[in-house]
Amino acid sequence: MSIEVPVGRFAPSPTGPLHFGSLVAALGSRLDACACGGRWLLRMEDVDEPRCPPGASDEMLRALTACGFEWDGPVLFQSTRKARYREVLETLKAAGRAYPCACTRRELADSALAPDGAHVYPGTCRPGLPAGKSARAWRLRVDAGTVCFDDVIQGRCCQNLEREAGDFVLLRADGHFAYQLAVVVDDADQGVTHVVRGADLLDSTPRQIFLQGCLGLRVPAYAHLPVVVNADGEKLSKQTRAPAIDYRDPVPAMTDALAFLGQSPPKDLRRATTADFWRWARANWDMSRVPRARGLAA
Ligand code: GLU
Repeated sequence: MSIEVPVGRFAPSPTGPLHFGSLVAALGSRLDACACGGRWLLRMEDVDEPRCPPGASDEMLRALTACGFEWDGPVLFQSTRKARYREVLETLKAAGRAYPCACTRRELADSALAPDGAHVYPGTCRPGLPAGKSARAWRLRVDAGTVCFDDVIQGRCCQNLEREAGDFVLLRADGHFAYQLAVVVDDADQGVTHVVRGADLLDSTPRQIFLQGCLGLRVPAYAHLPVVVNADGEKLSKQTRAPAIDYRDPVPAMTDALAFLGQSPPKDLRRATTADFWRWARANWDMSRVPRARGLAA
């Protein structure tokens, strides 16, 4: 009998440098993979090319290397995967699951807002493209009913896809594949069994689970870490001007990230070498201590 090796991953969008928020996600997924004796993959989610400045992936790889992260196998770049996403979209079209949509952003401006701030698609093009209109995007037809899953950290989460997300975009009007499609296809093709990431993606997970169901894919285990928010309650990101990790001296920030995740690193770990940091972190990581919150101030 072969025993399956767990597979985790860190999948940053290289839109800017590694900051404290992305460091927390990287550390949480890395340490979870260590704790369960699994492999850990690195994937650059540069599918949204307009948002990924040239050089940002290299910068992120340099920062992760300086922090002493070690990943298994080559880095997967989503920008190299378009033919595969196209193939999956064709499968969904052939199954009658994907349909073309002619709606513009302006036409959707009045529709209800979803928990993640996006508009719930009102289904305008579901019965077919309105006369004289042509396809701008492709959407996935969702079913009535509720999608639930048990998040390792956040507990049971449920979403009514029709009411809270609507038929969601697979191929965007600008010709780029949507995150929801790319992440599901890549997690499946890479054999990912454990998704550990920021809780800003908790509301996306039911869409991903639904899409996995449409494609007959296995649902991985999900653990959503609290995201780091600033004094105004906004997620640390390039948009909120999160400062880059100083990769000449990353251990203080790495130690703070461990403390943020509910662990109790000794104070002097901040002055340790990266090798000593990782030794301590691997030996002491305890997922059950990660706070059950969607967002926390650093
Ligand atoms: N690329 C996404 C981000 O950086 C994360 C995707 C994921 O972990 O599923 O926000």
